Amino acid sequence: MARDFYEILGVGRQASEAELKKAFRALAMQYHPDRNPGDKQAEERFREASEAYAVLSDPDKRAHYDRFGSAPSPTGGPGFDSGFGSLFEDIFENFLGGSGRGRRSRAARGEDLQYEIKITLEEAATGLETKIQIPRMESCETCSGTGSEPGTRKVTCESCGGRGEVRMSHGFLTVARPCPRCQGEGQINKSPCKTCHGEGRQRAERLLSVKIPPGIDDGMQMRLTGEGSGGLNGGPSGDLYVLVHIREHAMFARNGADLYCDLPVSFPQLALGTEIEVPVLAGTAKLKVPGGSQPGQILKLRGRGMPRLRERGHGDTCYRLLLEVPSKLNAGQREALEAFEEASKERGPLAASFLERMKKLLG
Ligand SMILES: [Zn+2]
Ligand SMILES: [Zn+2]
Repeated sequence: MARDFYEILGVGRQASEAELKKAFRALAMQYHPDRNPGDKQAEERFREASEAYAVLSDPDKRAHYDRFGSAPSPTGGPGFDSGFGSLFEDIFENFLGGSGRGRRSRAARGEDLQYEIKITLEEAATGLETKIQIPRMESCETCSGTGSEPGTRKVTCESCGGRGEVRMSHGFLTVARPCPRCQGEGQINKSPCKTCHGEGRQRAERLLSVKIPPGIDDGMQMRLTGEGSGGLNGGPSGDLYVLVHIREHAMFARNGADLYCDLPVSFPQLALGTEIEVPVLAGTAKLKVPGGSQPGQILKLRGRGMPRLRERGHGDTCYRLLLEVPSKLNAGQREALEAFEEASKERGPLAASFLERMKKLLG
């Protein structure tokens, strides 16, 4: 059963719009996730209060709620209607984020970038040094990321007096919006830098060296510190993350440092034992299959797997014996197998145990 919206906000049913707003602000300030990081209970209280306020602050929805005890079902998708969503963010930006004074002209760190690279299993085993071409935004060297011609300064915006925001009324709510004249900067750039056209950054393509360590696994990322987008107004650059994907291999599946390979064998090979040429990472090797090996059994070449990432040693390469029974027999095969069956007086331990249990079951 959902809690009563008035109860959540701690106000009476006759509460005025101003009282609702006041109550909601107090709760929102107390339980806002930014102020209670990781606190699930606070997050839940914040969500509840937001939901309650979204309904009660809208006269139509409030009337519906008073009458039916529930919010009208949303028509435009789940959650708050979009009109409220943006209004809501504005409120928070306004009273939690402080004033917008000169916000955008402060130093800002550049964005992190991600680059995906596909390599082979062999390359993952040996490690790889390669070059990648990264398109990114770099701080403009001419203006040091300020966007103004060297020697000039931005002037205070007259529309907002440098505050970067203007206040607008949405019904009963007063909301701060970024100043449209200066785009919230509070300042106007009268002589934009000619190199970057006032952006403070420029597009660039960089060729970077990446060193992929031996033993890297699919989905791992490497961070190249400071190789992301350039900062603004002297802010530091972001980082570049290189995400490694490893192509599927024709022979091997991988689990950590171990490699797995299915190895088809015949019944005589299993029964008599044999030596088979098998694939390993850099070529082939001889695998000894002992006489009497069973289908499904796994034979290992120890230390012939992938190198362990940032550790000593290698994993194993594991071969799973896959018994292949001929689906058709030629005359020679048939004769030989019939002779084999004829000669097989003794049953194996599995068959012997089966027969014994059958005997018991039947009394
Ligand atoms: Zn510039
Ligand atoms: Zn302005």
